[in-house]
Amino acid sequence: MLLTTKVETFHNFIGGKWIESGSSKTFQSVNPANQEDIVGVFQASNEQDVQQAIEAACQAFPKWAETAPSKRAAILNKAAAILEENVEKLAEELTREEGKHVTDAKNEVLRSAQTLRYYAVEGQSFTGETFPNDDPNMKVSTEREPLGVVSVITPWNFPISIPARKIAPALITGNTVVFKPSSDTPLIAYRLVEALHNAGIPEGVINFVTGRASEVGDLLVTHPAIRAVTFTGSTAAGEDIHKKSSFTTRTQMELGGKNPIIVMDDADIELAATLTVNGGFSLTGQACTGTSRVIVLKEVKEAYVQKLIEKTSALKIGNGFEDGVKIGPLANEKQLKNVLKYIEYGKEDGATLVYGGKQLTEGQYGQGFYVQPAIFTNVTPDMRIAKEEIFGPVVAVIEVGTYEEAMAIANDVEYGLSASIITNNLKVAHQFTKEIQAGTVKVNRTTTGNLINAPFGGLKKSSTSTFRESGRVGLEFFTQVKTVYVGY
Ligand code: NAD
Repeated sequence: MLLTTKVETFHNFIGGKWIESGSSKTFQSVNPANQEDIVGVFQASNEQDVQQAIEAACQAFPKWAETAPSKRAAILNKAAAILEENVEKLAEELTREEGKHVTDAKNEVLRSAQTLRYYAVEGQSFTGETFPNDDPNMKVSTEREPLGVVSVITPWNFPISIPARKIAPALITGNTVVFKPSSDTPLIAYRLVEALHNAGIPEGVINFVTGRASEVGDLLVTHPAIRAVTFTGSTAAGEDIHKKSSFTTRTQMELGGKNPIIVMDDADIELAATLTVNGGFSLTGQACTGTSRVIVLKEVKEAYVQKLIEKTSALKIGNGFEDGVKIGPLANEKQLKNVLKYIEYGKEDGATLVYGGKQLTEGQYGQGFYVQPAIFTNVTPDMRIAKEEIFGPVVAVIEVGTYEEAMAIANDVEYGLSASIITNNLKVAHQFTKEIQAGTVKVNRTTTGNLINAPFGGLKKSSTSTFRESGRVGLEFFTQVKTVYVGY
């Protein structure tokens, strides 16, 4: 890893120019593996900056909406090529800023490039329908139009791929964007905007404002020119934004999860344990679709828990630049405190901590936010670790007697993002896909991971469930439909 000696200051991007915030204040992006490593200095923006960004986006909108789709696509493709050409550097920056392993960071940058390319193609053939009718001299069809100015607000856990899957469909359909990334990961977000700029995006089409939600969040959501807000983050923030936004503002909220994996009595135990480790502990448990509950049939519980401990204890914890590291630091101090708090809740509520759960502070760990992955058994469905989102490497194992009991528990939470079952029984597998309350449903696969070309989103409090992200349907959110009747 190259540690830069001089810390660079990065600007907002408004109306095609890199500019300082009117607040004259800045904040630092810090490496969660080593708090002495300052990744960059960013603008602590205020409402005037947001106002300026929205005005720039409004001004740019009419021309961008009229720009040929093939020209919009060419810009996305060129930005994708820029990300790919710079993948090594960008992955290094992402790891320094967020903590995930550099291989995962590289994959995320490449996936973001792939997302831009995907929407460059899909967006060019996204169109309306024609409707047969009884009048031989009338044609009825729908047309899709861009909405206008869209706010894009994103979290730190996938700090370039989530923005890419929102910004690409917004741009290809002719909208202009004001983008506010998480203050934990502004650099990789900056790089995405920089790639679009270097690819030739006209001024004002994408605008970038960094800063605290408490300073800039409200205006991004309530300004009358904002036609849509696409947000990914916590359920609490999503509910707040959804309530604040006006009747004429569309919202797309992708929120928290409490994702279960059900291990049936016929399950391949080796596979079940591997999928739990991958789903629960990769990205240090900080995936919205991460496995946080395992609901296991009593016949196989002992064998499963033994395998799970064996596999978890083999995971190397450390800096995302070290070979073989599977668990990096948590992304920030707030995350560390929250995870440790839930580990205490688990003990207080009577669950048994059978593995891990300790903060690591020795040697290099002392400079970062490290915690051992934690496995709890004897968890009951009413415990806090079984109901509330932790967003860290903590897995709660709940033993049940029947499939029906497993399903009742799986569905008895306020979230419905992702869920999986491990079984070789086709009937049970299909029954599960029908009965589970989740937007992403898997059989013999991890709860994590989704395709670029398939819809993604949650049910219940995991999403506003209005419009899905990803895939072709991901374009719908950014367009409005007009039905046109032409008599001739
Ligand atoms: P967060 O809600 O704290 O912040 C997300 C973004 O929203 C940040 O940019 C933040 O500055 C901004 N923000 C926060 N409150 C706001 C408000 N009231 N108005 C406007 N903007 C506001 O979330 P986080 O800690 O960055 O991310 C972790 C959360 O994200 C977890 O709950 C996780 O489940 C969720 N997440 C969901 C998905 C999904 O697709 N469902 C994907 C990734 C993460």
